[in-house]
Amino acid sequence: MPDKLQRFLIDNTNVRGELVQLEQAWQMMQATADYPAPIRKVLGEALTAISLLATTLKFNGSLILQIHATAPVHMLVVQATSDHTVRGLARWNEDIPDNADFQDLFREGRIIISVEPKGGGERYQSIVELQGNSLADSLARYFEQSEQLPTRLWLVADEQKATGLLLQRLPETDSLETNDDNWERALALSSTITDEELLTLEMETILKRLYHEEELRVFEQEEITFKCQCSQQKIEKMVISLGVDEAEDIIAKHGSIDVDCEFCNSHYMINKVDVKRLFSETNTPPTNSIH
Ligand SMILES: [Zn+2]
Repeated sequence: MPDKLQRFLIDNTNVRGELVQLEQAWQMMQATADYPAPIRKVLGEALTAISLLATTLKFNGSLILQIHATAPVHMLVVQATSDHTVRGLARWNEDIPDNADFQDLFREGRIIISVEPKGGGERYQSIVELQGNSLADSLARYFEQSEQLPTRLWLVADEQKATGLLLQRLPETDSLETNDDNWERALALSSTITDEELLTLEMETILKRLYHEEELRVFEQEEITFKCQCSQQKIEKMVISLGVDEAEDIIAKHGSIDVDCEFCNSHYMINKVDVKRLFSETNTPPTNSIH
């Protein structure tokens, strides 16, 4: 069963929402490293958050959420594309105690959210300090401070599943009866959800449980899959950027240029013949361009 994302609207209000449950994608992502439990929790929450947030944007490309800190988790990155694929990883440099909380994991942490349009183009990036004692907290404050639409997230992850709920207050229009009450009411209803419920109940049941008194408009479910964006072509591009001297030097020393993708553990090998081909290709003008 592929993972699903469910969008919904609370009718006659300017409040929209999304619910996502990741099981397959989340487990495939965990398989690439042996994550200590506290890191696994935040990574699962981050994966859920990026899946939800990517759906709110109108763009073709990737949305990336990174947390950079001095220690012990120096980097956590999750990425979602407009094609509904996700990937992510975390790297740490100290032992992580089982009871480490969000603040313990990221000393002097910062969240970087960036949008990468497909095929190049201008990147948009925003950076905020980590605040509060959860990722959802930090993101809520990010939305408060930035000029983005007010947005709240409920995120939870265990070894099996990563689930999240997002509520967003849309800009007010004349046709909608909009007031603070609608938003506050939706927030209050959503806040009654427990981590246990998010992890164990079906999506339909969660929506019924939270919004049975509202008029809910649900859209067709969307599938989310784990898929890496690494490719032989990208690795070859990287080798070209090394320059012919360095590439030949590595081949002379090691026999081949070996690259492992940290996101999916794929292994790429560039040999002597490849290097010859790559650098002769770069010397001749391309007959067609690839985007
Ligand atoms: Zn990969």
